Amino acid sequence: MDYLPIFLNLRDQRCLVVGGGDIALRKTSMLMRAGASVHVVAPAIGEALLAKLAEGEGSFRVGPYDEQDLAGAALVIAATDDEAVNRQVSADCRARHLPVNVVDNPPLCSFIFPSIVDRSPLVIAVSSAGQSPVLARLLRARLETTIPAAYGRLSSICGEFRGLAKQVFPDTNARRGFWEHELQGRFAELVYAGREDEARVHLRAAFAAATPSSVGEVYLVGAGPGDPDLLTFRALRLMQQADVVVHDRLVSKPILDLCRRDADFIYVGKARSHHAVPQEDINQLLVRLAGEGKRVCRLKGGDPFIFGRGGEEIEELAAAGVPFQVVPGITAASGCAAYAGIPLTHRDYAQSVRFVTGHLKEGSPELPWAELIHEHQTLVLYMGLTGLEHICQELVRHGMAADMPVALVAQGTTPQQQVVVGTVADIAGKVAGSGIQAPTLTIIGRVVELRDRLNWFRPDDA
Ligand code: SAH
Repeated sequence: MDYLPIFLNLRDQRCLVVGGGDIALRKTSMLMRAGASVHVVAPAIGEALLAKLAEGEGSFRVGPYDEQDLAGAALVIAATDDEAVNRQVSADCRARHLPVNVVDNPPLCSFIFPSIVDRSPLVIAVSSAGQSPVLARLLRARLETTIPAAYGRLSSICGEFRGLAKQVFPDTNARRGFWEHELQGRFAELVYAGREDEARVHLRAAFAAATPSSVGEVYLVGAGPGDPDLLTFRALRLMQQADVVVHDRLVSKPILDLCRRDADFIYVGKARSHHAVPQEDINQLLVRLAGEGKRVCRLKGGDPFIFGRGGEEIEELAAAGVPFQVVPGITAASGCAAYAGIPLTHRDYAQSVRFVTGHLKEGSPELPWAELIHEHQTLVLYMGLTGLEHICQELVRHGMAADMPVALVAQGTTPQQQVVVGTVADIAGKVAGSGIQAPTLTIIGRVVELRDRLNWFRPDDA
């Protein structure tokens, strides 16, 4: 973050605006909206600005800027077209540690103005740290169109009930849960419909009926293969309301960044051959956190029910009577195939697809080789590179054509995605020493040949 977004209380604070033109007028209006007492200094002050100042009981002095003007100011804006004056104001303010903004000159600023969506008391500020104000404004325009005007009234009414909410739900988590429910339910709908009195009656009744619950909930959420755009809406919603996020190694950083900022994050990642937290401990952790009344988001790579041990986790939750829900995610096979331009089935080449894991439970027998070999079936291997050579050799030994095409997709759907293409006979050799990074997924079948024609993601791949 280049700048820290904060909201300043300027009510009745003296703010100095240096400059008397249109830009000074805009800044003065903005400061007055926040209740500031504005003082303008400039050799010439426009009519409209004078009128604005009169309206809000602002003051002014006609004349050149002088350091004395800074006395008593809480914040300063320089909006002149005289570069030397702007520099002087900036330097004087900095020497006094006074927040200063020089319009359109970020190097001279100690703070910058965001684009804002004003649904007071709800305010959204958007900034691109000065890198692309146009983009920030476009985003603002999008927010303007998607956020109902009634959000302002909605937050005001919530404000009226804050005291009662604290009384009824002394526990923060329970209170948050109550508001989340009401703000997505009848209370909010009544406010949107302009029936505010009924909304208040509804809310009072809801408080009266509330029994603060101490049982939390677990959301078993599939986070997809890496690209945050592949999350489902439900995944995102639950990620943003969870009190605790329990995640493993496959969940990418950009996805974690979309979780609620002030949630607790617990990493229980498993790397092959060294299990950071044993599965049994993870299961118990989920039960314990929910028992403390927390809403726990158990975030897993891909889909929780495909080689994700999701089944084991919810078995334990069910046994302990903990409420839970499961959110499917895009599994690595779908994600990697789509982003590598390989359809997993195709009328002419493959009428079935089979997902197989190479991470076998200890003591398991080998894979059922004969079943894996079909000219018209696509095989997807969920596993790292270890064992790839052995599996390919066995497939050929059990009758797979040696020229059967193979694509190995590493870090699929992320900007680091790499694809290596070969055949069952030579893929292991091609991959060895290629410096490819986990996680990797292997797709075996005639459909791989379609990649040349259908790949849209990264035409330059190996
Ligand atoms: N539940 C997950 C799979 C977990 S098993 C899912 O549905 O996708 C872990 C294996 O998934 C890894 O060894 C790798 O083979 C595969 N995998 C997961 N994400 C991947 C990615 N972004 N690129 C390639 N393979 C991936």
